[in-house]
Amino acid sequence: MARNINQPVRMCIVCRERFTQSSLVRLQCKEGHLEPYMGMGRSFYLCNTCTDHKKTSGQLARYCKSNTPAALMNRLKEIVVNDG
Ligand SMILES: [Zn+2]
Repeated sequence: MARNINQPVRMCIVCRERFTQSSLVRLQCKEGHLEPYMGMGRSFYLCNTCTDHKKTSGQLARYCKSNTPAALMNRLKEIVVNDG
């Protein structure tokens, strides 16, 4: 895969592949709830493939310290849709 070396590269938390930052969805957790990254606090990335992957709910639950992975996945779908 060709990459522009001037673009920052980040790792998807599910597949651990590296992608340019602009092709990833940037997220954060606030008190156990999943939100789009608002510019403050810790964030993490998902690639487009892993926004709908069977391993994703478990990873989100870990990052958000949540025991409701299904709710996190529902929220993720909303965020991805709104993100375009
Ligand atoms: Zn991924």
